[in-house]
Amino acid sequence: MSRRTLEPGEALFKEGDPPTSAFLIERGKVRISAERDGENLILADLSNGDLVGEMAVIDDSPRTASAVALEPCVLLEIDRAHLTERIGHSDPIVRALLEGQLKRYRAALAAMQGQGVGSEHPVSTGSGDLTAIVKIRLEANLREALARRELDLRLQPILDIAAGRIAGYEALVRWDHPERGPVSPAEFIKLAEETSLIVPIGEYMLDAAIAALCALREAGVSPLPYISINVSPRQLREAGLIERLLRRASDAQIPVESIRVEITEGMMLDYAQVDDVMRRCRDAGIHVLLDDFGTGFSNLSHLHQLDFDTVKIDQSFPRTMMTNARAMALMDAIVKLVHAIEAQALVEGIETQEQLDVLRRLGVRYAQGYLIGKPAPIADIIAAARVG
Ligand code: C2E
Ligand code: CA
Ligand code: CA
Repeated sequence: MSRRTLEPGEALFKEGDPPTSAFLIERGKVRISAERDGENLILADLSNGDLVGEMAVIDDSPRTASAVALEPCVLLEIDRAHLTERIGHSDPIVRALLEGQLKRYRAALAAMQGQGVGSEHPVSTGSGDLTAIVKIRLEANLREALARRELDLRLQPILDIAAGRIAGYEALVRWDHPERGPVSPAEFIKLAEETSLIVPIGEYMLDAAIAALCALREAGVSPLPYISINVSPRQLREAGLIERLLRRASDAQIPVESIRVEITEGMMLDYAQVDDVMRRCRDAGIHVLLDDFGTGFSNLSHLHQLDFDTVKIDQSFPRTMMTNARAMALMDAIVKLVHAIEAQALVEGIETQEQLDVLRRLGVRYAQGYLIGKPAPIADIIAAARVG
């Protein structure tokens, strides 16, 4: 992709030109117009974030309108091959929707031009941005994956440092994509949160975690470790979340202490809501953990307003503390802070023995990271527990 700049009055393309590329406006304003019976019909004024000229590219036909800069413009050029490749790979339903939209747009344009109306009132071209199209596609795939049970539970061990044993596991979702292999949640959780798909995904993960606890119990692993599940803010808004969790645990005869809940620090917005969920968890005996501590904006107010059992210190701290004295001082201070509010400290992202030695020296209770173990399927965990 390359960038184009335009001066005011300069044409980007003219009616009848071949459809070489589409453009994303990064800065400035572009007027789309068409010539009919000597009259200049303004179709739309497009600006930042709008796509220009994608219609002709999508259906491979000559330009049916002209595009002229109204102000100095910077545009990102998306070549035809790139766009058609994306569309070619897109979900068939999404593609059909796009083609339907396009047909309707062309019919409306023809009717308007026939009547010679609209010259004073720009109409929308209906051009959503490309990222929206890509997102719609990914969401459709994710929805299918959920239905086909291609989502998978991985468990990452958490070490009780002083006791020298695995206290529990964090539940992490994986998407076993038929072509791409395992896809990290970093790629799809944010999208799932935007679209509410996180709610059924969360239910699925809860079921998987409870099934894993049952499997550990049947394998004779004792005492039963805990499994900590990630709960997104969107899930917190669902009524009955904790009640459902309790019911499923009770149906499977799993003690509630074996299920923990992680709430991400960086995304916490609604104190009242989090406070309410935490209170209900506490009443029921479920531990709640503050995740990714140190990455958000107002984390100190979270600490005193909400009563967390455990604070999980973000992996960026252990990553820098071995080479940077200030990072080390900060880690020391954060651990003291966590202890001062009578919570347990857990540090994630521990990859080396040296990092673990530091945690031991600082009196940190729990460690999690590749040194202790990578996220693994339940079968591997049970096999390891049998050997150990
Ligand atoms: P998180 O909760 O902070 O999870 C820790 C992430 O760090 C995991 O990435 C884990 O695989 C990775 N990690 C653990 N130890 C190490 C290490 O020693 N070094 C390095 N470099 N990385 C390490 P993952 O599995 O890709 O998950 C990414 C994020 O996706 C999670 O961050 C969590 O926010 C979200 N997520 C994962 N599963 C779920 C889920 O079931 N529900 C919800 N709502 N969110 C989930
Ligand atoms: Ca987590
Ligand atoms: Ca984390």
